[in-house]
Amino acid sequence: MKIYNTLSKRKEEFVPLEEGKVKMYVCGPTVYNFIHIGNARPMIVFDTVRRYFEYKGYDVNFVSNFTDVDDKIIRKAIDEGVTADEISKRYIAECKKDMDAMNIKPATKNPLATEEICGMVDMIQTLIDKGYAYEKNGTVYYRTRKFKDYGKLSHKNLDDLRSGERTLLVTGEDEKEDPLDFVLWKPKKEGEPAWESPWSEGRPGWHIECSEMSKKYLGEQIDIHAGGEDLIFPHHENEIAQSEAANGKEFAKYWMHNGFLNIDNRKMSKSLGNFFTVREISEKYDLQVLRFFMLSAHYRSPLNFSAELMESAKTSLERILTAAENLRFLSKNAGNETLTDEERDLLDKSEEYVQGFEKSMDDDFNTADAIASVFDLVKFINTTADGSRSREYLDSLYKTLFRLTDVLGIIIDKKEEILDEDIEALIEKRQAARKEKNFALADQIRDELLAKGIILEDTREGVKWKKA
Ligand code: AMP
Ligand code: ZN
Repeated sequence: MKIYNTLSKRKEEFVPLEEGKVKMYVCGPTVYNFIHIGNARPMIVFDTVRRYFEYKGYDVNFVSNFTDVDDKIIRKAIDEGVTADEISKRYIAECKKDMDAMNIKPATKNPLATEEICGMVDMIQTLIDKGYAYEKNGTVYYRTRKFKDYGKLSHKNLDDLRSGERTLLVTGEDEKEDPLDFVLWKPKKEGEPAWESPWSEGRPGWHIECSEMSKKYLGEQIDIHAGGEDLIFPHHENEIAQSEAANGKEFAKYWMHNGFLNIDNRKMSKSLGNFFTVREISEKYDLQVLRFFMLSAHYRSPLNFSAELMESAKTSLERILTAAENLRFLSKNAGNETLTDEERDLLDKSEEYVQGFEKSMDDDFNTADAIASVFDLVKFINTTADGSRSREYLDSLYKTLFRLTDVLGIIIDKKEEILDEDIEALIEKRQAARKEKNFALADQIRDELLAKGIILEDTREGVKWKKA
């Protein structure tokens, strides 16, 4: 299995630190608003990476944080006249709803920066003790010049960076020893949330949060660290400098970065008026369509979002869902149970698509090509599955389709959501039909409810229902 490693700029064979296990950290969103569809890309991509590792039999420890203390959160809290805590809690809850609707598996752990301050203070102290950090007027800076490998992830030339940054130095930061030194701890400003520390009452810098949370929940060395490509510099570069200096070990073996999502070939931004939240998209589409759309491209390529492309993703996804529905229908009505020899041969042939799928996924998670194998399987299903086939044959094909789509996080056996009041209304309609001795209609309503996962029970006290 090969992974493109930003560190080496090459595809490398994946070798886990510990056999059968994957330790993975994905930088999560800053929670000051509903997440936008750009934020959804790393969520979908790295959830799919996790699912594929699990498919291959790995035990994945998946940690993804929420950055819940930040200037943008504080500004929003001031605007609304509420606490920063209220803002972050609200948008974490909303983010989790969106993630659930995109069928993103819950992480093993979602640490919150504000709950891990103690560990961050300890790590900063270690960096000071080792000479990698220094304090000036209550602010603690990282001494980049001391870390020999600084720039190894972003492949940047430090002298160029230094001369570029020097002109950008803003007042208050001229106390730094070097323009590339970055903040580990900053003193609070009036009205900001703050914590005690040996240097000042204040809060941690953004980069130290991930170094500490990754160490606490996954250990000093991890297999994969991931996020959007905008995080390579400075965020991930700084995380490496902090973690490797503090722990004295290589931090992450593989660094994975997703490409950016653009809208109509332009950068998504509020000022351009081409900014969409995931919630807005969910008003028009089932979020499975968004998920499928994101996976139709390679995760490292830039991805263009447009209404036409979403429509085309919707149509393609429907082809898969229709094949699944046909298989379910045919299986329910199948005449014979067991496989014929011809069917056995056909099933052997269908394995080719599974192999094609795995080959693509093994090649740096090429979901675009893996989806092409799913479509080959769909075509095979549509041409070989009919009313003459045995139930075993149809169910085997269904199982194969399910296994592959499950890696992509696409649900093919989704039960239609039905509201309680709609159930009650249908039950009443069925009672009326029975009174009129229209048993055909009564049975039809029962079946309709059953298809939606609702089981009816006729009891002496009346009709009761439960979810299957
Ligand atoms: P943020 O809340 O800005 O820290 O972003 C959370 C995650 O979303 C990070 O991994 C970013 O790299 C990623 N991200 C933000 N905008 C986009 C975009 N337009 N396309 C792809 N990924 C993005
Ligand atoms: Zn991070």
